[in-house]
Amino acid sequence: MKHTCSLCGTVYDFVWEKGTPLPKNFPFCSARCKASDLAKWINEEYAISEALPDAILSEAEQELLAELAKLGAHINDEST
Ligand SMILES: [Zn+2]
Repeated sequence: MKHTCSLCGTVYDFVWEKGTPLPKNFPFCSARCKASDLAKWINEEYAISEALPDAILSEAEQELLAELAKLGAHINDEST
């Protein structure tokens, strides 16, 4: 199916089957867009932090993965 990148709006081929992990960069078209979006909201969230410890990054990524899991369930509902 086609999917529109959540960041840049590019329409790209989205391939995903039930029971498989979501594409690495979903819902973005590329690793670049994924990283840009992650960095954007991390900067807002932790703007006063002097440094960004690895622990915070992985916590942020876990939040992102949780969001992606919800999106995955939604996509599954639409395809069945
Ligand atoms: Zn994009």
